[in-house]
Amino acid sequence: MEELKPLIDNFGRQITYLRISVTDRCNLRCVYCMPGSGISLINHDEVISYEDILRLVNILSNHGVNKIRITGGEPLVRKGLTGLIENIARIRGIEDISMTTNGILLKKYASELYNAGLKRINISLDSIKEERFCRITRTGSLKDVLAGIKLAKKTGFNPVKINTVLIRGINDDEIIDFVNFAKEFELNLRFIEYMPIGGNIAEAVLSKETEEKIMSEFDDFRPIKGNPAEIPPSGKEGVYDGVSRSFGFKDGKTVIGFISPLSGHFCGDCNRLRLTASGNLRLCLFYDNEYNIKNILRQNDDEAVFKKIEDIIKLKRFKHNFNEKAKKKESILWANDFMNGIGG
Ligand code: SAM
Ligand code: SF4
Repeated sequence: MEELKPLIDNFGRQITYLRISVTDRCNLRCVYCMPGSGISLINHDEVISYEDILRLVNILSNHGVNKIRITGGEPLVRKGLTGLIENIARIRGIEDISMTTNGILLKKYASELYNAGLKRINISLDSIKEERFCRITRTGSLKDVLAGIKLAKKTGFNPVKINTVLIRGINDDEIIDFVNFAKEFELNLRFIEYMPIGGNIAEAVLSKETEEKIMSEFDDFRPIKGNPAEIPPSGKEGVYDGVSRSFGFKDGKTVIGFISPLSGHFCGDCNRLRLTASGNLRLCLFYDNEYNIKNILRQNDDEAVFKKIEDIIKLKRFKHNFNEKAKKKESILWANDFMNGIGG
């Protein structure tokens, strides 16, 4: 099928990547993602249906979207997810499907997900100390996640990426332990700067500090291209792989990435659109504005859906406003939503 008009925002950026939050529900309660008191969940019948998701992906794939990430909440708590992945994998034009999961249920689903067409996976892990892991997630078991990571490797997911959010005074003493863990299991480890979304209060550890800590411990830690064996010809900054700057070691097997929403500057290349669990399009993680797309999707008029998306894309801002908000000390109150509904 011929590709139709691409989706281009007012700054010339083409939208090629859709992140889909399939549920706001989760089997964990991570301290940096949800308040301890719990959150009010979307009614079951208001959660976007698989049918509507597929309709949207179909339409977007005709307009240049080729990359999909499934996230949540915890995507694996939604029933029938394997079927959704299988159907997305069949859509012409979709070249890359990945998922972000807390890994708790991977023991049950790893091989059926792989067979459905999911080949890449990100597993979140914020401590490799059992008791601390339990404190951060308020309920989870580290053993389940570690078993999930090992099984993901064994099943053939490639790469298996580990997402680690560093929070001062909570897990920043584990940076070197995490690196050693990634080396032992040949993982692609990504340190993510904590974002004060949804009123959570904690101090982020900026990527520069983490990078320097690793550098002082490992002599062969150096910037790499996406492939762990490839060293870029120049530059000490690390090369961007999506929003992550990549580093590696002489072994050519382990990748350490830094995702720096606070200290980095990747908005200029932003190619993302987010679909929330309630069926809204969101243009940026850092702006609360969302636009209902679920209702028009149900009218079965692809052209009207595309026209609406085109109009929404024109509202995408050039960059996030975190730094200005932070200077005015508005950061804590600046987003009304919690990460579980948006999907990170
Ligand atoms: N439940 C899945 C998981 O935890 O991997 C997927 C959803 S979770 C919202 C997606 C990613 O967002 C996770 O890697 C999580 O660590 C990250 N995240 C959640 N809250 C965050 C925050 N306040 N700052 C930075 N990253 C955050
Ligand atoms: Fe659940 Fe993921 Fe949020 Fe943790 S980060 S509470 S696992 S959605």
